[in-house]
Amino acid sequence: MEKEDLDYFRKKLEAEKAALEEELGGIARINPRNPNDWEAVPAESDETTFRDEVADRLEELEDREATVGPLEIRLHNIRTALERISQMNYGFCTVCQKPIERERLEVNPAATTCKQHLEQEKPR
Ligand SMILES: [Zn+2]
Repeated sequence: MEKEDLDYFRKKLEAEKAALEEELGGIARINPRNPNDWEAVPAESDETTFRDEVADRLEELEDREATVGPLEIRLHNIRTALERISQMNYGFCTVCQKPIERERLEVNPAATTCKQHLEQEKPR
């Protein structure tokens, strides 16, 4: 891949990474023991908490946990793609080693397989 194209996808990936980090930052915090792990945090609470609200907050925390997981995976995939750019091996299918279709990368710049091997793409 040409350097111009690498720069183009690097910018796309960095923009998506920033957006994801912002989204995660609103509902989760980085695990102090593992910088790649995000933990959902409960919404800000005030001093007066009633029994019903505790239940609501727990439910909300569960919702947040369900949201954090996929965002975290997406962020991990983007980080991996950025590493591949800096190692100059970005844009190749991890199954057949052939270049990934340009239009596939446009849709998903963190893609790690060509269209033919779409189903073998690892979730992480
Ligand atoms: Zn392939």
